[in-house]
Amino acid sequence: MKEKQSVKELQPYVVNPIVCSVKLDANEGSKDLFKDLVKQLGEEFYLNVYPDDSYIDLKKSISNYVGCEISNICVGNGSSELLDLCIKTFVDRDELILSLDPSFAMYSIYAKIFDTKYMGAESEDDFVINADKFIHAIKENNPKVTIICNPNNPTGSMIKKDDVIKIIKSTDNIVIVDEAYMEFGDESVVEEIENYKNLIVVKTLSKAFSMAGIRTGYLLACEELVKTVEKVRPPYNLNSISAFLATKALEEKDKMIAYAKGIKKEREKVYKSLKDMNVKAFPSGANFLFFHSDIKNLEEKLVKEDVLIRKFGGKLDNHYRVTIGSEDENNEFIKAMKKFV
Ligand code: PMP
Repeated sequence: MKEKQSVKELQPYVVNPIVCSVKLDANEGSKDLFKDLVKQLGEEFYLNVYPDDSYIDLKKSISNYVGCEISNICVGNGSSELLDLCIKTFVDRDELILSLDPSFAMYSIYAKIFDTKYMGAESEDDFVINADKFIHAIKENNPKVTIICNPNNPTGSMIKKDDVIKIIKSTDNIVIVDEAYMEFGDESVVEEIENYKNLIVVKTLSKAFSMAGIRTGYLLACEELVKTVEKVRPPYNLNSISAFLATKALEEKDKMIAYAKGIKKEREKVYKSLKDMNVKAFPSGANFLFFHSDIKNLEEKLVKEDVLIRKFGGKLDNHYRVTIGSEDENNEFIKAMKKFV
């Protein structure tokens, strides 16, 4: 089989198959938050027809939640699909995508698939992002698309809204701000989409809305950019069950807001516990904490305690990411950690 060269060089994205009762490896949300919505599908929900490709009900819910116009929205099969569509839409072969290093692994994977160049601008000590240095990297390298993950995955680092705006203003090319975790932070730039015609904000229901299973994300931008991305979006890209459930969840945003508030409180508790154990955790604006530990085989040791977290390798050897779960789950994680420090 003769796959194209860029795919030949690619390794499949392997999801950790280990199962533990306390699952804190993938930044997922609460299993209870919207579990009752499934019942609303009811007997009148027909599966024989394609979804409404205008996704108007879902877009109305998103528009109420975000405070934007319907024409500012494009929906997708997870924010993953929208990132993929943006790269297909805006970056030609051999043009450059600039992001942060470290950041969400899929950005560089998409770059590879589409045969574009990719560069991650290094962060400062403790994974702090220096906006002026980042702008310098933009000026020097003139990326066709810049992707900022804010709060950043896996580090949890936040960039202040004013700095994000400075970055957007520093180039006429597209700047994508991936706000997958912004419900746990407070520096969103969604209200700026009409002010900056090169700004795209990508969001998801997988995190604070706790609906990773329905694979629903959305993109927000000025009408012209949305129309351009729409040219590349396949018809019916989001299935009708997901579109229905996402619409209902967004109508109950207060539930999500209360949940996110609880997670932020738990995040501070876990952060303090790690600090008390002399484990170096980094400040986070997301539903996870990134930390450094020299404990040998920490991930394997925690698995034996039935707790799953995410370990990193290469340049990030001895670094780990733990999702902030329910109070009980977080306590289980802290209890297990205490056995090894
Ligand atoms: N962006 C970031 C920063 C993420 O961490 C993730 C998922 N882990 C995604 C996008 C993709 O999320 P989804 O496709 O579930 O919307």
